Amino acid sequence: MASRRLALRCAARRTNGEPCGNFAMVGSRVCHAHGGRAPQVRNAARRRLAMAEVYTVLARVRAERSASEEALRPWTEELSALRWDAGLDLESPEVLARRARVMARAMEDAAKTLRSYARNMLTHHDPREEGT
Ligand SMILES: [Zn+2]
Repeated sequence: MASRRLALRCAARRTNGEPCGNFAMVGSRVCHAHGGRAPQVRNAARRRLAMAEVYTVLARVRAERSASEEALRPWTEELSALRWDAGLDLESPEVLARRARVMARAMEDAAKTLRSYARNMLTHHDPREEGT
C-alpha cells in the first residue's frame, strides 16, 4: 500500500559512468533528472501504482474471503453432513461456503434490524404512558 513504499534509487548512470544515486520518482525507475518527469514515464508510473493498488485490494479481498471461509467452516461441514443425510448431492466446499456466507449476511441483517427496533423502543418509550 502507499503507506509503506520502497524508496528506489535511479537506474540511470551519470556521464562519468557512476550510478545516479538520486531517488527514483514514485512508481518509476528513474529520477527527475533522468526522464522521470517525461509524460510517458509519469503515465507509466501512474499505471504501475494503480496496478499495485489493485493487487493490494485483491490480496485483502482474498484474505478476508479465506478468513470468512475458515470462520464458517463448522457451518459448512454441518450443511454438508445435513445434505448427505438428506440424500442430496454433495456440493463443493466453495458452494457450501458461499451458502454459509449468504446465511451469515442474512443473520447479520436480521440482527441489525432487531437492534434498531430495540433502540427505537428504548428511545420512544415514555414511562408516563405506563399503565394507560
Ligand atoms: Zn537519476
